Amino acid sequence: MRRDVKPARPHVGHGWTAFVLAVGLWGMGVPVPRPPVAGTDRWTQRTWVVMGTYLTVRVRHPDSAYAERILDGVIDLVQDLDRRLTLYDPSSELWALNRQAGGPPLPVSEPLWDLLERALAYSRETQGAFDVTIGPIVQTWGFLEGPRRVPSDEAIARARARVGYTKVELDPSRRTVRLTTPGMVLDFGGIAKGYALDRAVELLQQAGLRDALLNFGGEIYAMGTPDGGDRPWTLAVRHPRRPDRVWREFPVRDMAVSTSGDYERFFFQGGRRYSHILSPWTGRPVETDVVSVTVVAPSATEADALSTALFVMGPERAQALVGADRCRYVLWIRQQGRHLIEDPRSVWPPRPCPSQGSRPSRTPKSNDPSPDIRPQ
Ligand code: ADP
Ligand code: MG
Repeated sequence: MRRDVKPARPHVGHGWTAFVLAVGLWGMGVPVPRPPVAGTDRWTQRTWVVMGTYLTVRVRHPDSAYAERILDGVIDLVQDLDRRLTLYDPSSELWALNRQAGGPPLPVSEPLWDLLERALAYSRETQGAFDVTIGPIVQTWGFLEGPRRVPSDEAIARARARVGYTKVELDPSRRTVRLTTPGMVLDFGGIAKGYALDRAVELLQQAGLRDALLNFGGEIYAMGTPDGGDRPWTLAVRHPRRPDRVWREFPVRDMAVSTSGDYERFFFQGGRRYSHILSPWTGRPVETDVVSVTVVAPSATEADALSTALFVMGPERAQALVGADRCRYVLWIRQQGRHLIEDPRSVWPPRPCPSQGSRPSRTPKSNDPSPDIRPQ
């Protein structure tokens, strides 16, 4: 997706704690040495650079050769999504779809269709705060290819005229997509990493793995537990302004975590900070005293899309979208004068959700290709 690779951080020894770096950087805990329990404590971990950031997957399985093969499957899957969804390669499927904007419908692949359906559903649910057609606005501000700068009001108006999720027409019977307005640009930057994580988790589950920790540029999925027991993973929200400090720790099991903030990708001009999360309504970077919003949800697609949407909406408007009853937890960190505070409208800490642990993160469809990886 993007090509400005975020730097990885070295391990921070903290028992089994993994840090959800609110800045998208990360460092997972180093395992505390303990006696092996019949081979079950064997972890296999790999890190790749993909979609312009780091993906690290750590899985627990007694047969590390088997685990390695599963991890090969994970990276194949994520690289395939990257090739389809990148805005940096004229031969990508997404590029072809964007080029067709204003023209006739185009048949698309199953993953692109599935992701687009989900993205549009989040647009409807968030009344357009999350909008996958945001591309022209992202481009105008230089967040896609640079240079990053404040555009003219006319340029913003021209971009806004090409943005709007209702300008996307889907035909399920033929699996075709039509972008109704010339110059439209779909940009999956606010959801693709989460979606890729869910597909990876699905593959791990189908391969018979129960315990894993996946970190995709700060989007996290914590599967099972760190030792196959009852104790959940402990993650931490990083201090938004002091990357070496932890803001708060919390337990997670079979859930995803995503943070959106004003400091991830931004630029300064005229003493002001402009963030890469843009309001589809104003065509400008969101202006808010929210420094970061962390979302915990059952699926990583949901957590990723919602953290972006909630940042646009702010705590007041977003209240209807979150709650323990929907298994959507949120931690708002706001700037108040010189201090950072947690907003009382946070729904935190996350708790286990009733139906969790066994269900797949994404409903399998009858036409899904079955993976050729099976438990031994
Ligand atoms: P990150 O990718 O850094 O983890 P986010 O998940 O919040 O952060 O996604 C930000 C990206 O999403 C932007 O770089 C842009 O590509 C895209 N984006 C920005 N504003 C919106 C929006 N309102 N709706 C959907 N996508 C957006
Ligand atoms: Mg997001």
